[in-house]
Amino acid sequence: MPSLLIASHNTHKMAEIATILGEDFDVQSLAKFPAAPEVVEDGDTFADNAIIKATEIAAWLGGQALPDFVLADDSGLEVDALDGAPGVHSARYAGGDGNAPDDANNAKLLRELADVPDDNRGAQFHCVLALVALGQAAEVRTFEGICRGRIAQAQAGQGGFGYDPLFVPDGHELSFAELGRGVKNAISHRARALAKLAEYFR
Ligand code: IMP
Repeated sequence: MPSLLIASHNTHKMAEIATILGEDFDVQSLAKFPAAPEVVEDGDTFADNAIIKATEIAAWLGGQALPDFVLADDSGLEVDALDGAPGVHSARYAGGDGNAPDDANNAKLLRELADVPDDNRGAQFHCVLALVALGQAAEVRTFEGICRGRIAQAQAGQGGFGYDPLFVPDGHELSFAELGRGVKNAISHRARALAKLAEYFR
């Protein structure tokens, strides 16, 4: 069974990845390595940032008692009417230097879209996973997943994290936060990228 260390301090992402991959993988948390460095995500694309996170954590792990792979997830929301913003800046959309609280990011997105009618509120969640085999840190594989939908007029629902209360996936009338874990983990950007990763291991 392959063991994957998830290069993220985001407990929501970690839980979604572990649930979606299921029992065929030994999914390990970065919480096991409290001295792991905070990685600066200064890439221009999701793929750049996912690769930065996976390779930096893999390099830092060096010779410690190790999982087989490091897996990083870089993801975010791309809104058509905003030319793809907030994109790679999704976590820090409403903030200055650091990440902003989810509510502040959601409030800013609603302000930016205040004059945008329903039929022009298309958007997508975008996830790139970067997989690094330890001992061969030069080799990185990436897996991409996209989930199309639209941005609602107001937040709804308590589930999930980030922009989930505002994102209504195609084929549904409720937000990811209302639809809950089961539906989200079946159709999300992260689920689609993880399905490609699972296929790679098959
Ligand atoms: P990252 O941790 O740098 O990849 O930032 C990801 C940011 O994108 C999160 O903080 C959320 O704001 C947003 N995001 C990514 N995936 C999701 C998701 O599944 N639901 C809601 N928001 C997400």
